Amino acid sequence: MAAVEAAREVSTLKDFYDLMHETAVIRRGIVKALIESQPVATSSLEGLRRSRRALASISRSGEQYRLVLDSTNHIDVDLSYEIGELDKDILYVEKGEPGLIQHLDNLHDDFEQQVSKVVGLLSGMHFNAFITDRDGTINNYCGRYGSSIQSAYNAVFVSRFSASRVRHPIVLTSAPIRDVGLIDVSVSPPGIFIHAASKGREFIDMHDRWHSFPIDDEKRALIESLEARLRELVSQPGYQKFSLIGSGFQVKFGQITLARQDISSSIEPDESKALLHRVSEEIAAVDPEGKHFRIEDTGLDIEVILTISRTGNDELKDFDKGDGVRYVAGAIGLDMRRGPHLVCGDTSSDVPMLQAAMDASPNDTYAVFVTRKESLAARIEETCPKSVIVEEPDVLVTALNCLSSSLK
Ligand SMILES: [Mg+2]
Repeated sequence: MAAVEAAREVSTLKDFYDLMHETAVIRRGIVKALIESQPVATSSLEGLRRSRRALASISRSGEQYRLVLDSTNHIDVDLSYEIGELDKDILYVEKGEPGLIQHLDNLHDDFEQQVSKVVGLLSGMHFNAFITDRDGTINNYCGRYGSSIQSAYNAVFVSRFSASRVRHPIVLTSAPIRDVGLIDVSVSPPGIFIHAASKGREFIDMHDRWHSFPIDDEKRALIESLEARLRELVSQPGYQKFSLIGSGFQVKFGQITLARQDISSSIEPDESKALLHRVSEEIAAVDPEGKHFRIEDTGLDIEVILTISRTGNDELKDFDKGDGVRYVAGAIGLDMRRGPHLVCGDTSSDVPMLQAAMDASPNDTYAVFVTRKESLAARIEETCPKSVIVEEPDVLVTALNCLSSSLK
């Protein structure tokens, strides 16, 4: 027997992200084995347990975990996603599907009834397109994108459904594609999903080829210049922390996100407001007439969005996820007029994806949305009669797994 390994020390935010990205590598191995009906390597299970112990050893501040940012600053973070998903994966590998399902049933109210509702709507069906949002929909919500590594059970469930029931499975997110993006936090085997990011302005197809929505040269030059200015800004000592908290600094295709606050309010309110002001000045410097960029401030994130012109007129609008669906479908030769389609989401920004499918195939589009908001639920039911609402991503992915195995 090897000597008991000392617990790995995680003290800085960088140690933490490194550890989480190692769990992605371990999880990819587990998912590959399970999809191929092979046994999971003992070293993989040990790797998950070691990561779990390392997270548990981080120093605490009440319910939160304290990570060092630099020599003078620290940040207190909520790690319930990272820890909760590791626990589920360890249980899944140790006890199999029944052990995990029992755990999910204990965690969530009316779990079984909600799963049955989805299975009842979609039972026996094969889909031409499955278009789904990621965070909060098929993946439990995590406050930091960089550590929102997909869990192994989740990847197995969603991949099985997509491989056995869907011709064109598309994950469509507003996050970037890489560095850190959708590809980095996904652990599904290659060749199962089309990974569409930046609201569908860019995607990686089933054959690992990257595609992007055409942006004219003038707009491309402007966004590159703004990106360089903001990159320079967040490299300055006083501003660096904004790239390390919450959503951080994300360069998406046609959109840039910079966090000004996180859910734990790690930044002083005045400092957070000052950053917003500073970013507005940087934008005004490259786009003095305000024609090309629009700022969306969520209070936590500053989203700088490149506007697009609608075909046929001069009206400017933001690129939404419905535009993303139309772009991806056109680029891969997916005829949206031919259903059935399944569209899944969890916020109002996902409704344009459903609308795009309904416009093309009004009688053959199905929807499952994950929300506790009555107003959004009502809007989904109004938009798509063949829809159900559930409360948790775990309900949706478990239902998808049931729907895939029921054929075999
Ligand atoms: Mg979402």
